[in-house]
Amino acid sequence: MPQEHQEHAARIAEFRDKVLYKLTYSVGKDPEHAFTHDWFEAVALATRDYLVDDWMGNTRRMYASGTKRVYYLSLEFLIGRLLLDNLSNLGLLEVAREALAGLDVDIDQIRQLEPDAALGNGGLGRLAACFMESMATLGVAAHGYGIRYEHGLFRQAIVDGWQQEQTESWLDFGNPWEFERPEVSYLIGFGGSVSAIPGEGEPRHFWHWAEGVRAVAYDTPIAGWRGNSVNTLRLWRARAEGELHLERFNAGDHVGAVEEEARAEAISRVLYPADSTEAGQELRLRQEYFFVSASLQDLMRRHLKQHGDLDLLPQKAAIQLNDTHPAIAVAELMRILVDVHAVPWSRAWQLTVGTLAYTNHTLLPEALETWSAGLMERMLPRHMQIIYLINAEHIDSLRARDIHDFELLRAVSLIEEDQGRRVRMGNLAFLGSHSVNGVSALHTELMRKTVFSHLHALYPQRINSKTNGITFRRWLFQANPRLTALLVEQLGEELLDRPDELLVNLRADADKSALRKRFAEQRQLAKLSLCSLVQDRIGLQLDPSALFDVQVKRIHEYKRQLLNLLHTVALYQAMRDEPTTAWVPRVKILAGKAAASYQQAKLVIKLANDIARTINHDPTLRGQLKVVFLPNYNVSLAEQIIPAADLSEQISTAGMEASGTSNMKFALNGALTIGTLDGANVEMLERIGDEHMFIFGLNARQVEMRRQEGPVAGEVAISASPRLHEVLQAIRSGVFSPDDPARYTGLVDSLIWNDHFMVCADFDAYWQAQAEVEERWRDPRQWWRSALMNCAGTGWFSSDRTIREYAREIWGVLE
Ligand SMILES: *Cc1c(COP(=O)(O)O)cnc(C)c1O
Repeated sequence: MPQEHQEHAARIAEFRDKVLYKLTYSVGKDPEHAFTHDWFEAVALATRDYLVDDWMGNTRRMYASGTKRVYYLSLEFLIGRLLLDNLSNLGLLEVAREALAGLDVDIDQIRQLEPDAALGNGGLGRLAACFMESMATLGVAAHGYGIRYEHGLFRQAIVDGWQQEQTESWLDFGNPWEFERPEVSYLIGFGGSVSAIPGEGEPRHFWHWAEGVRAVAYDTPIAGWRGNSVNTLRLWRARAEGELHLERFNAGDHVGAVEEEARAEAISRVLYPADSTEAGQELRLRQEYFFVSASLQDLMRRHLKQHGDLDLLPQKAAIQLNDTHPAIAVAELMRILVDVHAVPWSRAWQLTVGTLAYTNHTLLPEALETWSAGLMERMLPRHMQIIYLINAEHIDSLRARDIHDFELLRAVSLIEEDQGRRVRMGNLAFLGSHSVNGVSALHTELMRKTVFSHLHALYPQRINSKTNGITFRRWLFQANPRLTALLVEQLGEELLDRPDELLVNLRADADKSALRKRFAEQRQLAKLSLCSLVQDRIGLQLDPSALFDVQVKRIHEYKRQLLNLLHTVALYQAMRDEPTTAWVPRVKILAGKAAASYQQAKLVIKLANDIARTINHDPTLRGQLKVVFLPNYNVSLAEQIIPAADLSEQISTAGMEASGTSNMKFALNGALTIGTLDGANVEMLERIGDEHMFIFGLNARQVEMRRQEGPVAGEVAISASPRLHEVLQAIRSGVFSPDDPARYTGLVDSLIWNDHFMVCADFDAYWQAQAEVEERWRDPRQWWRSALMNCAGTGWFSSDRTIREYAREIWGVLE
């Protein structure tokens, strides 16, 4: 024991010395005069030094063992803050806390100064971040590849109830976690022409691109739990190619030279802010090709240096494409193999398919990427040729299999001919990969039946399912230290290393009233902190004993924030109609960003704020109902909201949410879910048990059947439901928008005539399920028992489990 004490004291002293050294020599400040931000920077830099030692060791081991590497290509990484993540995974959190306390610095204060790295829109980008952490934890030799956007997702301000987008400049104070690697850079070509030189066998093709943009690497170390291994997230920044630009400058074409620079650097300037919808802009295609080409050039260089044999590529490299955004990798890898390394076409195709794997994230037709063939020909002429050639061989191979059905050939072609010629990136990714996976069981089943039904019939082995997961290090240990401490006390220290296996043991304790009581107490403390956050941010006082009913995610029609708002209004009306009834006090909490161009979603935000203003100021409710719209939802805000949630809203139109991951975060923290049979909710139901969830509404098959009958009129449901009728009447007539009574007539009318998202169709079932929620809440014994069962049943949704499945079944790494 004394020796342990001594070691601990020595580690504290070492950490303190490192921080002081960084403060002095890297930040250039005297401790006497340092600002809080200087301390943040010094602590981050000191922490990074600890990472670097493990990182180098890891890199050396990877080279020495010649192990197969995984490359995760993603246009988005929604990382959030890294200080706590790194300290906690390195086992230094307590050391740092005490060392800083000795310097009169509060770690909880300085960690708030770190800006969120918001290089993603929502679930897809957050998944990539959770995967990076799990791969490091499990010791998978992985590299993440993406773009180092100068501006991440916009900051959302709410002005007069409307969303306003402001630029997010997360790099203004520098980024202490990254290493710039000016020596690691590649030229990325655009435009120009292709010439073919006949030789023996296949002719060689040369792409004479017209514009070259340089991709420069920036590396961030990603540490696994207990510092097990440290992998690299390599993000590319676009730079104009210096010499070309200087030549023009000297020739007097100053404006042209600067324009060219701006055009090149625009590639890594800003993240496209749309979630699940595609803008189809030229700049977006430039971003996609830019990061794919840089990443493939980089990994090919590493492969050749280490193994020297292209034939070994599928044995030594697995490339995972996160959605279709990097799908151009199929053509780029073919180009590198065939044009640069003179690999014969058919062998190159084997290597490509053997190396690439593709994850599909959405079935929404507007989100299935296609690019006009004209744009592709102009920007990437050689890739367009390669795509045509892949397509010709694909169609020929089908004819050789005696498949002549015209409709089928049309559906599986890489080229869509309906509205001008377009390249289907989903089909390209499918054909060029040996594995195509969905992200929940239901989503995968729907993929087989809908978007990829024809390709699935031709390649029945290719589609597989990998249900998403979340990293428990961030979403339990860091976000909710109080609950973590309680769980460790209950289940033992080992929980920290194997939460996915051990959490289920909590089930046996769900009937212990002392545990339920303590579970409730930790929630109460989390709710109190959220109350003070709400007070600070929007000046609203909340009752911490009320039911906290939470829906936080991107604002999208299919996620149906509108259904939640209709329920809010119905509750409001019921409370006003029966003021003497003892209602369950409730706080509705919403947060989320709408794509800047998505008018309908932005109107929903305004409606939420209009409803909040009306309800929060109505004295007849005696505070029994409050509505909160928290601005600027991001990872850090999620970490503060989720531990305080009693009820988790996962109410998407069935068949439309591929998986969802906030559903898992909430359940892990012990919230009860009200939700539809959609995405991963279906599998949560299997593991948590239907007596502990509130499932309602149409299922995916029923939704599909209704839609097949033509436009779904909400009218039918409205005339059958006096409650819904009254709600819509109030919104339509301007009860919540007296300043502009017609503001919501269009919104309500569209529900009446075409309720595509089944908001009206599901309303009564939702109301009923909410009534059951209240009944459960009135019985604390049952409520907290269910809360424990939710936490206990969520172990399987760890991204460690997901990554083990990818590793074994797709990548062929890990036993
Ligand atoms: C988890 C998470 C998401 C995904 O939420 P869903 O409800 O699954 O869409 C989006 N944004 C942030 C900041 C998250 O942490």
